[in-house]
Amino acid sequence: MNDRLADLVCIRCGRSYPVADHTAGCPRCLEQGTPANLRCRYDGDSIGELAVRGARTLGEGSTPLFPLPAELAPDGVAVWVKNESANPTGSHKDRFSRGAVGRAAAAGYESVVAASSGNAAVSLAAYAAAHGLGCDLAVTHDVPEPIAAAVRDTGGRLHLFDTAEQRWDFVREHDADPERLAVTNHARPVVGSSPFGIDSMRPIGWEIVEELGRIPEHVLLPTARGDLAFGVHLGLREMARRREQPGPRIHLVEPFPRLAAVLAGANVHDSFAGDATATPSIGGDSATVQALQVLEETGGTAIAIDDGVDQARIGLARNGILLEGASAIVLPALHAAYDRSRIAPGETAVLLATAHPFKGL
Ligand SMILES: [Zn+2]
Repeated sequence: MNDRLADLVCIRCGRSYPVADHTAGCPRCLEQGTPANLRCRYDGDSIGELAVRGARTLGEGSTPLFPLPAELAPDGVAVWVKNESANPTGSHKDRFSRGAVGRAAAAGYESVVAASSGNAAVSLAAYAAAHGLGCDLAVTHDVPEPIAAAVRDTGGRLHLFDTAEQRWDFVREHDADPERLAVTNHARPVVGSSPFGIDSMRPIGWEIVEELGRIPEHVLLPTARGDLAFGVHLGLREMARRREQPGPRIHLVEPFPRLAAVLAGANVHDSFAGDATATPSIGGDSATVQALQVLEETGGTAIAIDDGVDQARIGLARNGILLEGASAIVLPALHAAYDRSRIAPGETAVLLATAHPFKGL
C-alpha cells in the first residue's frame, strides 16, 4: 500500500480507522443503523497518489476528452465527452477494479467476490486474472451472454441468482471467509463499494481538469450507488483546492427519482421503485450517503430521466459515438438541466461516458 495513505475516514461521522477492509462501511455508523462508506485519506498533497501501490495495470485511465458535436449540445454551452469506454474492458469500472483488486492482492487475499451482472463483472474478472486471484461473481439469471462469456474466459466463476438481494447475501457470506474480499456493496441499507476502488477513480477528476486546461462549471455522470460520483468528486475537489478555485457542480443522472426523492424529503435509506430497463447499469432501488454528499458539497442536482434514452443513444451513434444506454442518459439530462436554467450559455459541461454498448447492456 502507499505509505502516504494515512487512514480511512468515515464520510458521515468523520471517525478515523487504520487501513483495513471494512466492507460494510464505517463500523460505528453501521452499529447506529445509518451506514456510510469510508474513504482513503492521505498525508500531504494527494494528487498523483493512489492508495494501492504496485497494483497491476491493464492500461486503464488517460481516457480521451473530445467535444460533443455542436448539433447535440444546447445553444452556447461548450460540452465535452470524457470517454471512459476507452478503458481496457470498455468502462470506467477498470479504474475501480485496479484499486479494489489491487488492494485484495496487496493484503494477501486469494480471491475477490462481488455482485454484478454488468460492466463491473467483466472488469473485476479481468483484473483478478491479471493479479492471479480468483473471482466469484454473483449474477442474476438475465446476465447478458457477452458478459457471462467474457467472465468465463478469464477464469472467473459465475453464481446465478434470481434476485439482486440474493446476490448480496452470497457476497456477505463469502466475505466472512478470510481468504476472500468483497469489493462491491453487500450492506442494507446500501453503503457503496470498496473505498480502494473508489479511490482509484479519482484520476478521472484530475484528467478532466488537465485535459481541459481549466475547471469546468459542470460535470454530469450516470449514478446508481454513487461509487463513480464519489471518486470523481474527490479528484475534482483535489484539483480545485490546488488551484484555489471552486470545483464544478456535479450533477447525478438517474433513471427514476432516488436521489431526487431524497432531496425532496425522502430518507436516504429508503427503497425507491422505478424502471431502469433502458439503463440496467444504473438500476437498483437505493440511494447512498456518498452520492448525496456529492450533490451537497458541489451544489449539483439530481436529474431523473425516464424518457429519451434510446433516442439519445441513437443520436450519439449517428455521430459515431457508441455508448450503452446508461451512458447516453447524460445527454437528455444535459438538456433537462439547461431547460431548467441549471446550466447556462457560456458555461462548460463535461459528460462522463461510462461504457460502450458491446456487452448488450
Ligand atoms: Zn461513521
